[in-house]
Amino acid sequence: MSTLRFRGPVLPDGEARDLYVVDGRITLEPVAGAETAAEGWIIPGLVDAHCHLGLDAHGAVDEETTEQQALADRDAGSLLLRDCGSPADTRWVHDRDDLPRLIRCGRHIARTRRYIRNFAHEIEPGDLTTYVAQEARAGDGWVKLVGDWISREEGDLSPSFPADAFAAAIATAHDHGARVTAHCFGETVLPGLVEAGIDCIEHGTGLTTDLVETMAARGTALVPTAHQLNNFPMYAEQGAERFPAYADHMLDLHARRRETIMAAYEAGVAIFAGTDAGGVLPHGLIADEVAELASYGMPTEYALGAASWRAREWLGWNAGLEEGAPADFVVYPRDPRADLSVLREPTAVVLRGQVV
Ligand SMILES: [Zn+2]
Repeated sequence: MSTLRFRGPVLPDGEARDLYVVDGRITLEPVAGAETAAEGWIIPGLVDAHCHLGLDAHGAVDEETTEQQALADRDAGSLLLRDCGSPADTRWVHDRDDLPRLIRCGRHIARTRRYIRNFAHEIEPGDLTTYVAQEARAGDGWVKLVGDWISREEGDLSPSFPADAFAAAIATAHDHGARVTAHCFGETVLPGLVEAGIDCIEHGTGLTTDLVETMAARGTALVPTAHQLNNFPMYAEQGAERFPAYADHMLDLHARRRETIMAAYEAGVAIFAGTDAGGVLPHGLIADEVAELASYGMPTEYALGAASWRAREWLGWNAGLEEGAPADFVVYPRDPRADLSVLREPTAVVLRGQVV
């Protein structure tokens, strides 16, 4: 098999180089007889830091559908996925060289009857640490909690568990070597989670100025799923008749979403790109998520790093395409820092050294 060569400016530094691919890894040492496979702007493989494989709006899906979801992500350039909760056992994806690399959170952990039906383990506070330990052992280093959801009694968003139960859950996950993240739409749940040392917040529309400074100081990450936040008016409408306070709350969070997420950015919270594909949204929309983040006012290069080199490093992978790094990258015909729309038209997607 001939060695492949890729040439062009390599992000994040943008310096022009020749990358050679040998045995699925990058070398910068010229290889005689290498065949030029593609030229253009080369970026470390994209990351979707919040998606759901093996899940659709009704719950777990079969392996064929899961495969289609993973292929849609891959073909969009997402070569590393952090699955943020799935009721399907997707461990088999690890054995498939043609599918993106996958970091699984296991199954969502929610309060009884307080999440989308068929998605989560639905439990009571006394069982929380047991389930966290179980999901930490079964997953790939992350556990996903449902931080808040509508409470039928209160008619509004409300924390799923008491703050001390969340704190014990986070400590248990950390004891098992797993990081913890939580779905959070509202305000109330957040201070306790951040104080207890949670590693990441998903959505984060209820963040306040005080709290983003604490998050920045503690290194708590944020995955806003900006594209998903555009659905808040739809969720509000669905609940408006029975839960008017909830509907108003969702509309208010939606109206302030840009300011909220940008306050986190300004405070120095590390923000990463996640599409939230797999529940309501389709897979393969990482380009749209990056564009949506940039539309909030983040620099283009920051939004791009949120879906590439910074996210890779955060998740424990090689940030850059240096000597010996896995050959996972995407080649584009133009500089994505100057024009994010080019993310929708990759020239080549290279996963484990193979042009896919
Ligand atoms: Zn999600």
